[in-house]
Amino acid sequence: MSELKVVGVVGAGQMGAGIAQVAAQAGYAVVVTDVAEAPLAKGKQTIVLGLARLVKKELLTQAQADDVVARVTFTTELKAHEGSDFVVEAATENEGLKGKIFADLDRVVRPEVILASNTSSISITRLASTTKRPTSFIGMHFMNPVPVMKLVEIIRGLQTSDGTFATTRTLAERLGKTTTTSKDHPGFIANRILMPMINEAFYALLEGVGTAEDIDTTMKLGTNQPMGPLALADFIGLDTCLAIMNVLHDGIGDSKYRACPLLRQYVDAGWCGKKSGRGVYVYA
Ligand code: NAD
Repeated sequence: MSELKVVGVVGAGQMGAGIAQVAAQAGYAVVVTDVAEAPLAKGKQTIVLGLARLVKKELLTQAQADDVVARVTFTTELKAHEGSDFVVEAATENEGLKGKIFADLDRVVRPEVILASNTSSISITRLASTTKRPTSFIGMHFMNPVPVMKLVEIIRGLQTSDGTFATTRTLAERLGKTTTTSKDHPGFIANRILMPMINEAFYALLEGVGTAEDIDTTMKLGTNQPMGPLALADFIGLDTCLAIMNVLHDGIGDSKYRACPLLRQYVDAGWCGKKSGRGVYVYA
């Protein structure tokens, strides 16, 4: 796959910044686009801080970290992806928004280039249908934080070709990731199982079964998870959790997937978790 030189990333949020970092660390030139300068600056800051941690642990030299940052271009021009050899979309979890991005990308990006979505839950087949290249379209679901988490879940849409699948898997491996394959079904594997647990933790909080701290400590120490479900929801982003629950509910149609009203209310209040300074917990 030596022909891939430039990896494009759409969206400079927590996931886009992480994907850009691991691609640049693997030696690819990276083009990151977003809708405004502010998220791009925040994304660049996320990468700089992420690399600083590696320098501190002596896993990278400062010169190597500087080289990684220098390989990443940040721009508000979607047109910049005309030079990208593989594009991963990591914008907000909203089907309409992603569909519009892909329709625009389809016009800008060379026809043979693969378009991948980092969506947590939305149908890859439907997103692919917003482009004229459904065979070169795939789900590439990185985990958060991307530089730390080993897994990439790969999702084939109905029309994804074997070549697209093979190229995507090879790219994920070159980024140091282990891959699994999921069918194109709401939430795929990871969020089909994780998100109902997080949603249930919100119901437990709403019903006063325990405090947030007791719910998280019980699950952390009682089921040997690195963090409790409410802390994890804050880390993922409560807006993203709500969007995923809505996709599960709409897509599967079973009432057991209805989003907890407390989760909805927090998102309505703008309490989107760590990234917005407040979610279930308050962050400095
Ligand atoms: P985020 O809110 O941190 O970032 C989203 C970014 O998308 C923002 O910078 C925003 O400005 C940008 N954006 C919005 N509209 C855009 C547009 N039209 N064009 C370009 N950029 C646009 O969200 P995130 O946590 O990085 O999630 C991004 C995607 O990754 C979502 O699809 C989410 O479901 C998925 N994902 C998230 C996690 C997680 O734990 N947060 C894990 C795996 C996958």
